[in-house]
Amino acid sequence: MRWSQTFIPTLKESPSDAEIVSHKLLLRAGLVRKLTGGLYTFLPMGLRVLRKIEEIVRQEMNRGGGIEVLMPALQPPEIWQQSGRYETARDVLFKVRDSAQREWVLGPTHEEVITHLAAAEINSYRQLPKNFYQIQTKFRDEIRPRFGLMRAKEFIMKDAYSFDATDEGAMASYRRMYDAYGRIFARCGLKAFAVEADTGVIGGSHSHEFMVPAETGENDVVYCEVSGYAANIEKATSRGPSIPTPMVSTGPAPEKFATPGVVTIDALTAAPYGVEAHRQIKTLVYVADSSVILVLLRGDDQLNEAKLTARTGAVQVRPATPDECLSNLGARPGSLGAVTGVPVSVKIYADETLRGAVGMVTGANEDGFHYRNVGMERDVRVGQWADFRTVRVGELSVGAGAPLKIRRAIEVGHVFKLGTKYSEKMNANYLAEDGQRRPCVMGCYGIGITRTLQAVIEQCHDDFGISWPVSVAPYQVCLTPLSILPGSQPLAQAEKLYAELSAAGVEVILDDRDERPGVKFKDSELVGFPLRVNLGEKSLAKGEIEIKPRNAPMFSVPIDEAGARVLAWVREQAAALAV
Ligand code: ATP
Ligand code: MG
Repeated sequence: MRWSQTFIPTLKESPSDAEIVSHKLLLRAGLVRKLTGGLYTFLPMGLRVLRKIEEIVRQEMNRGGGIEVLMPALQPPEIWQQSGRYETARDVLFKVRDSAQREWVLGPTHEEVITHLAAAEINSYRQLPKNFYQIQTKFRDEIRPRFGLMRAKEFIMKDAYSFDATDEGAMASYRRMYDAYGRIFARCGLKAFAVEADTGVIGGSHSHEFMVPAETGENDVVYCEVSGYAANIEKATSRGPSIPTPMVSTGPAPEKFATPGVVTIDALTAAPYGVEAHRQIKTLVYVADSSVILVLLRGDDQLNEAKLTARTGAVQVRPATPDECLSNLGARPGSLGAVTGVPVSVKIYADETLRGAVGMVTGANEDGFHYRNVGMERDVRVGQWADFRTVRVGELSVGAGAPLKIRRAIEVGHVFKLGTKYSEKMNANYLAEDGQRRPCVMGCYGIGITRTLQAVIEQCHDDFGISWPVSVAPYQVCLTPLSILPGSQPLAQAEKLYAELSAAGVEVILDDRDERPGVKFKDSELVGFPLRVNLGEKSLAKGEIEIKPRNAPMFSVPIDEAGARVLAWVREQAAALAV
């Protein structure tokens, strides 16, 4: 390809609405352009990278036993009603109407469509296992589309769905996808790692997310360097808080005391009260679907809403409004407690760290009053004990007892064991060997192709621009003749190398623009071609060609050897990324 014949609109400055470096570089390197928030046009360089990532994904999915299909983005709402997600996923569903005012859904994911297919086509255990995948456009009504391709309204996903006869079969399918994901991200040049994940609204029992460490990521990953444990903070557990829970009673019964104006944990910690946060019970009022519930935590702990959702089995949880607190408990947030005045209809959930706690202080459900001498098991009608707290840095890992660390990361992929949730609802049953009809055991597996593309930029860049791994670079080599005058040595040598390298299968772009060398160098560094070959009058006169790897110092080679050296370099880089 000749630079002048493609379209690479590089920018000197970053557009002001790009907040993170990968978003800035996507735009500056001319890979994409914004149509409006969350919607992007891929330009030729961006599209080439996209196609390469897709191809890596396709190869590894095929290698992992996947069968490629292509499903419609436009879907009838009936299948969403059948699965129950017409309601539970309504926040992200884009809905459109046709001319007859009939409603349609734009697919945010395809469990419904594939399960509908399986219900019709899979009849016997002889047809199992099957793993269908596609690479296709998804639509999600994200509340806050941001960071370019990271969180878009329309994006490209690879989604796969496995169908097995048995649970063990489903675990094997899961493992094959987990392994395929490891290979995919490695081949894309990404340092990604798998973490245990919450299963959220999609349901299921077993789940891992593939994360790319990055400060700009939207996920917190908790990990232990000794045991290798790693989990999304929504799911992470530890041996418990660093300060133990008080187990020494301070009195025979709860005692009310006046705390005028005290509505925070901190205020009760301060003088004249001096109650340390870990000796306080934090009482949170939540609405789980439509039921009002209480969640009790230690004063120094934070509620983990994903855990609350999982433990209550609710589709959605939200904090109760101050009015809802008042009408249910007779007090406002700040004076709430679970010792007295909790209607029996309100279920009380308590965090495990409070089990056996005595001598605690909590709100009295009366504005301006608290109780002291509270014994959790003596004085509170706990309906369910579970882990509801958010793990903190420095707590000890369950396995190794070593301090946990937390880092930010970008979620690029997700594997779920779904079980029979969808197959039961949508009648995807098969006839087993024993003559019984059973629901298929499913798994689902997603990779954000467009998000992965941007994650590569987030991980592979420097002050000058992108630095593509050779496996996904738009072109592997950029030939830069410093003169493009017809008949000049630089252009003639560039043309010769272009022909030689192209014939050897190297992807080459020839910068034939009439620009100063400085401009060409800057642009090729910004766009991030892994290797640049400089063809200048001076070095050619010395019988040499300059080779500049994007990530390493420049070196010179004899003119005759240039083609072979470039080819060897590209092959070596590619081999390092092979799995
Ligand atoms: P997130 O928590 O980031 O919203 P998710 O849990 O909704 O992700 P999945 O439904 O598991 O994501 O989708 C599979 C993959 O699709 C994700 O791992 C991610 O790489 C990608 N993805 C999800 N939502 C978006 C989006 N709005 N824009 C771009 N990629 C996305
Ligand atoms: Mg999401």
